[in-house]
Amino acid sequence: MGRYIGPVCRLCRREGVKLFLKGTRCDSPKCAVTRRESPPGMHQVRRRKFSEFGKQLREKQKLRRFYGVLERQFRRYFALAERGRGNTGENLLVALERRLDNVLYRGRMAVSRAQGRQLIVHGHVYINGSKVDLPSHPVRAGDVIAPGPRETSLNLVKEYLEVSKYREVPSWLKVEESPPSIKVVSLPSRAEVGIPIQEQLVVEFCSK
Ligand code: SF4
Repeated sequence: MGRYIGPVCRLCRREGVKLFLKGTRCDSPKCAVTRRESPPGMHQVRRRKFSEFGKQLREKQKLRRFYGVLERQFRRYFALAERGRGNTGENLLVALERRLDNVLYRGRMAVSRAQGRQLIVHGHVYINGSKVDLPSHPVRAGDVIAPGPRETSLNLVKEYLEVSKYREVPSWLKVEESPPSIKVVSLPSRAEVGIPIQEQLVVEFCSK
């Protein structure tokens, strides 16, 4: 599955919010807060007012970019969310939140979702004792995620846990530091997803 490989700070400027795509830099004064107030580009342009369609489109793009998912895969998530029971918007958010790369980020084993993704594809991540190399793998309640048996895997995970110490872990995950592991206590609820998204706008956009 492909991924976006262009400059990431411009995505935050486009959406006008912090998407936390650059690891520890996002929480440092180096984050381009003032520049983010205008859309990307050399010249400072005032943000224009969006039509109803424009608002829905921006909300969908924002959600996609938070999780680093490309359009085609996002549409697949939406189709599954629509078919599931209950509220489509909530189903969509929960499905994205359950991605293994996101769980590594939320559980502080990676400084960003992109880094979580890299750990997974490089074979450093095991679930319940078996290697999983698919960043989109959906975690289930009771899963235990841990670094693989290689020393490199353990050292990398320990380092990321240390540098991400200041980040709060959501209540649906339980993190152990020694030996490092993340236990999925339960599946996340909408309230625990904790990203500034109006999912009803995304649903309206994708339902057209
Ligand atoms: Fe976004 Fe992080 Fe860049 Fe700040 S540092 S603009 S939050 S990617």
